[in-house]
Amino acid sequence: MSDYREPDRNDVVQALLYLAAYVAALVAGAFFLMPKYWYLMLIIVLGCFLLLVRWQTRAFGYECESCGSRFDISLAANLTAVNWGTRRYLRCPECGRRRWVRTLAKNGSRDRGTGEGR
Ligand SMILES: [Zn+2]
Repeated sequence: MSDYREPDRNDVVQALLYLAAYVAALVAGAFFLMPKYWYLMLIIVLGCFLLLVRWQTRAFGYECESCGSRFDISLAANLTAVNWGTRRYLRCPECGRRRWVRTLAKNGSRDRGTGEGR
């Protein structure tokens, strides 16, 4: 059972760091591997993308503003859901409605609970 809280600046910074690391891996991969080892490049692109999505799936939950329920989504749902800033278009498991839901951070998604981690 997870506790949800409002996403704060640390969550945004963490997300941006992961995204930057992903882009850096792609640039490095393209530089060293292309075009000869394009299949390795493909593995890096897809592998890192899945890692990124898996982290995001674990670190964030969602709140339905219609019925107020808070819920997680699966990795597959995360891959297919439309993302717009801090909102996503998802089906609420409680009331069954498809709607834009609010993104929440989950407690325990950080390794150490002080909120001061880098
Ligand atoms: Zn709902």
